[in-house]
Amino acid sequence: MDIIVLEKGISAGELRHIVKKLERKGFKANISKGTERTVIGVIGDTSRITEDEANAFASMPGVEKIHRIIQPFRLASRDFKPQDTVIKAGKHSIGGRKIQVMAGPCAVEDLPTLLKIGKEVKKAGASFIRGGAFKPRTSPYTFQGLGEEGLKYLAEVRKKTGLPVVTEIMDPRDIDVILKYTDVIQIGARNMQNFRLLQEVGSYDIPIVLKRGLSATIKDLLMAAEYIMAQGNDRVILCERGIRTFETATRNTLDLNAVPVLKSLSHLPVIVDPSHGAGHWKLVAPMSKAAIAAGADGLIIEVHSNPEEALSDGEQSLRPDKFAVLMKELKAVAKAVGREL
Ligand code: PEP
Ligand code: MN
Repeated sequence: MDIIVLEKGISAGELRHIVKKLERKGFKANISKGTERTVIGVIGDTSRITEDEANAFASMPGVEKIHRIIQPFRLASRDFKPQDTVIKAGKHSIGGRKIQVMAGPCAVEDLPTLLKIGKEVKKAGASFIRGGAFKPRTSPYTFQGLGEEGLKYLAEVRKKTGLPVVTEIMDPRDIDVILKYTDVIQIGARNMQNFRLLQEVGSYDIPIVLKRGLSATIKDLLMAAEYIMAQGNDRVILCERGIRTFETATRNTLDLNAVPVLKSLSHLPVIVDPSHGAGHWKLVAPMSKAAIAAGADGLIIEVHSNPEEALSDGEQSLRPDKFAVLMKELKAVAKAVGREL
């Protein structure tokens, strides 16, 4: 049921007009006159009312505002599916009791470096290797990634370490080549509202890490998930990775509110990226702990064996030894909130 809040001075004619319109659309209007305000409870399957139709109602004379009870996202919503979704990815499950950690360099640079990092993060307890072969860089003059060569290195590291691969797609034209090598596809923050790309990955049966856009609301993120799910792929993992705010002390503002909010609105697993969220390696450990405490199902962390020489995001990359210490510390946090790592 949706609720239409009416203006104080609404005329009888305006009210009649609204009720008629609702009835024409097959709804019943339950008018409730209070001392301050009159409201209409709209009875019927209001999930049929599109956002555009709701906006049209909201602009009718005599209407102050509309409260929608049904969310505009459906497949992604908890109303639609009350139980938590657990997603099989590689040989692991995301969204269950066990917290999964994806770790690796921002970009795949060369095979020896990637293999070294892969072995170290595996030893520390990570369950996925991450690394970009197609990089969304702010400047067209900086390293753009190795393309298919980088994907081959990721697959090689999977062979040697057993770690399933997470890598980013930027262009629907790369889907076939990416599917050849990866276990999980990442949609980066900059492409969260690239709707054609979302539809493309939505038509394959592969887990998707969907990162929150730089200035996307939680609702925008869930609507992006809906785009993927509407094509038939319901294996979506939501990722909070920080948003742009007025704060300049950190690269982004990691919105940890988003974790419990997403968990209450949606059944999908939620992971957190403290590396992009904070932008400095020193902040990665405290924010990782906070994320697990807040209820995240996993983390995606940038790790590099030689951050000073990294071709991208070195300042926010943890050295493997620091990553190993963090993994140990996270075990205790996970245990405290009834999870394991
Ligand atoms: C990344 O994971 O390296 C990346 C580019 O992330 P984001 O899309 O969150 O900026
Ligand atoms: Mn990065």
